[in-house]
Amino acid sequence: MAACSQPSNDNQATPAPTASAPAASASTAQANPFFAASTLPFQAPPFDKIQESDYQPAIEEGMRQHLAEIEKIANNPEPPTFDNTFIPMEKSGALLKRAMTAFDTVTGANTSDALQKVQEEEAPKLAAHQDAIYLNDKLFQRVETIYNQRDKLNLDPESLRLVEVTYKDFVHNGAKLSAADKAKLKELNKEESTLSTQFTNKLLAATKAGALTVDDAAKLKGLSEGDLAAAAQAAKSRDLDGKWTLTLQNTTQQPALKDLDDRATREALFKASWDRAEHGGDNDTRATIERIAQIRASQAKLLGYPTFAAWKLEDQMAKTPQRALDFMHNLVPAATGRAEREAKDIQAVIDSQHAGFKLAAWDWQHYAEQVRKAKYDLDENQIKPYFELDNVLQNGVFYAANQLYGLTFKERHDIPVWQPDVRVFEVFDKDGTSMALFYCDYFKRDNKGGGAWMSNLVEESTLLGTKPVVYNVANFTKPAPGQPALLSFDDVITMFHEFGHALHGMFADTKYPSLSGANTARDFVEFPSQFNEHWATNPKVFAHYAINYKTHEPMPQALVDKIKQARHFNSGYDMTELVAAALLDMGWHTLPADAPKKDADKFETEVLTKDKINLSYVPPRYRSSYFQHIWGNGYAAGYYAYLWTQMLADDGFEWFKENGGMTRANGDRFRKMVLSRGNTEDLAQMYKAWRGKEPSVEPMLIDRGLKDAPEGNEK
Ligand SMILES: [Zn+2]
Repeated sequence: MAACSQPSNDNQATPAPTASAPAASASTAQANPFFAASTLPFQAPPFDKIQESDYQPAIEEGMRQHLAEIEKIANNPEPPTFDNTFIPMEKSGALLKRAMTAFDTVTGANTSDALQKVQEEEAPKLAAHQDAIYLNDKLFQRVETIYNQRDKLNLDPESLRLVEVTYKDFVHNGAKLSAADKAKLKELNKEESTLSTQFTNKLLAATKAGALTVDDAAKLKGLSEGDLAAAAQAAKSRDLDGKWTLTLQNTTQQPALKDLDDRATREALFKASWDRAEHGGDNDTRATIERIAQIRASQAKLLGYPTFAAWKLEDQMAKTPQRALDFMHNLVPAATGRAEREAKDIQAVIDSQHAGFKLAAWDWQHYAEQVRKAKYDLDENQIKPYFELDNVLQNGVFYAANQLYGLTFKERHDIPVWQPDVRVFEVFDKDGTSMALFYCDYFKRDNKGGGAWMSNLVEESTLLGTKPVVYNVANFTKPAPGQPALLSFDDVITMFHEFGHALHGMFADTKYPSLSGANTARDFVEFPSQFNEHWATNPKVFAHYAINYKTHEPMPQALVDKIKQARHFNSGYDMTELVAAALLDMGWHTLPADAPKKDADKFETEVLTKDKINLSYVPPRYRSSYFQHIWGNGYAAGYYAYLWTQMLADDGFEWFKENGGMTRANGDRFRKMVLSRGNTEDLAQMYKAWRGKEPSVEPMLIDRGLKDAPEGNEK
């Protein structure tokens, strides 16, 4: 599964008097490209004109204008109506949105010291700005008045949904609190926001600094020539000429662990990853997360919830932490049981080589690869030539979207981008209408956050007359100059995954921007993306993109069969590391406010042991101290959502299987009833209406090889 996060403003919290922000001078206003709507196609941001110094004044002026618009709505002498309250609220904040979408994009994918400084300065102000809206009494009174009359107002379903979602947002953000408690909440929000930004920046530095550099190529025996060249290049870019640097990815396990023959190097690389943010000093994140957990519990208590998770799950599909925990606890025995059987296979290989050691976490990927080769004779390096990036994108990802939904794509070279590696495609609907822009930024950089994600630069809204501008970011290894970008099969899946999010954004067909596209609950938002992963292995799609970049030959059937047979390989490990991370998240966020401050490492072990998922050789996918999703990206108490949506994705794909598979009719129906609907109706009802029943966990257990795995993995 692709680790992927929707950059979100949810994690930005508190005070600071925004009114004191200086208004931009007239000359700045003229020069600043954010101050007028973009005149580029689709209102795409003019990245060729935007300077790093433009963001801060645009954000501050954007907040000032937004607040003035909100004040006008709140102080309207007319009695509150949907049209004089909700419509102007949906239209408000245009400048701020323009600045923030571009700012979030560059700080996520192409940051710098200057941008990080702006981020740290603006985060508490943005949080305060959000509070100034949610805690505006007059505004909330109007919202509440309309909410209380909502059934008598003859609102269309989408407008009714907007009233309900907005009202609950206000309540969730403290609108009903006393003035004293509002002030307390603001203080907590401010501190959380500051710490969350600090966490993100510390982690980026820790991950960069944590790279393993070796001065003897013999220690890297087993790496492919391409990977060795990339490591030499990485060392060179750090002025370490003549050495080799293995940079860290954001997950616990590192790709090179699979290939490295030298056990000491493996252990060193694993430990570099595991301890990256726990070396003491400036980049150590432990004290930061311990405090964030406390703050979140206090926020929840103030709002009347027993825990942070109880607060955050109320408006999710799962509704309560207990329901999410029950769902995960049901997965634990199947996942760990399978992982234990996989461990036995691996130990057998180690023993057969008379290596004389017990399997450790840093051995898993390396020997799993040998088990895979022995059992399935599958070599990643044999596969990679069939997955050249551009070919996978155009003949795989785009092709599937064409077969299902009738979309076509044309690359554009005239749209400005935030970094030269970024590509832009114009997307055409089934009738040839130009419908969206799609940007992709696939290569890893030191100044890019880890993982992969999707977001919008412009959100679709018929009210605002805007069409979607969406992008995907990933961290694929950039090839040396002149070499093709060859992907692992996991990378291929990541591309399909992120493009599933992109479709959710591009198919959006809603009136109100706040209900548009991927603006849905966390435990729903990964459904379209995980669902889209299924098309990567659809035989017709696969045959269309799995073409050798040198020989132009399709992948031989024997190799295709091997990939298919190997599909469930390591699924016990994969599921266990995910469930472990999700349970860590839930552990931190089900702490009551009066719990004593936790020691990060001790608490981590406690949670994993209590939940019966503490296997030494299967560490969590993210350790608490580098779990960006939950401390920096708005996925707090929401990481379970990836598993929950896996259930939806597999159950949903079952519908396609039951109804004739990849047809335009099936695609159109899915688009009409789900992908275009954003958050315009209750998500559980939306799913059920399309699926014809409640989601079932059975297809997930079978698809992920945890139940009745056809090829078996037992000894
Ligand atoms: Zn995702």
